[in-house]
Amino acid sequence: MHTLAIIKPDAVGGGKTGKILAHLEEAGFVIRAAKLMRLSQAEAEAFYEVHRERPFYRSLVAFMTSGPCLPMILERDDAVNHLRTVIGATDPAEAAEGTVRRLHAENKERNAIHASDSPENAQREVAFFFPESDVRRLWGATVR
Ligand code: ATP
Ligand code: MG
Repeated sequence: MHTLAIIKPDAVGGGKTGKILAHLEEAGFVIRAAKLMRLSQAEAEAFYEVHRERPFYRSLVAFMTSGPCLPMILERDDAVNHLRTVIGATDPAEAAEGTVRRLHAENKERNAIHASDSPENAQREVAFFFPESDVRRLWGATVR
């Protein structure tokens, strides 16, 4: 089973990419695809479309376009639920000890990592960043 994660611009810019990737691999995830990229305004707006009416939306889009980020497809059993547990609560002050956000996030907005919150959203978010043909080229026909 797959899920989508994004190492966010605060963590990439802060030199935490390697530590976070190691954390995810140690938690049993296999990295099936990853792409260092700078989101355009339109991409960030579309990705966080569900939050359009929220007060933090403009600021979130500005943050997500402020520097490179690293979207990736992660595979593991129960990937969606397990990754949400491994990253911790949205606000690092509320995140459990030892979670990615507790260890690496700055604050509730600049919180180091995104993870899909349901299998349906994981499917949509994987497709948002990674065309099926790209993943097939990496691993052969067996993945996705
Ligand atoms: P993500 O979707 O990035 O994995 P999440 O599911 O824990 O995070 P959401 O409620 O989906 O949290 O919010 C999306 C993102 O918007 C958060 O990760 C954070 O970067 C930002 N955000 C959420 N709530 C706030 C807030 N109250 N103030 C500032 N930024 C916020
Ligand atoms: Mg979310």
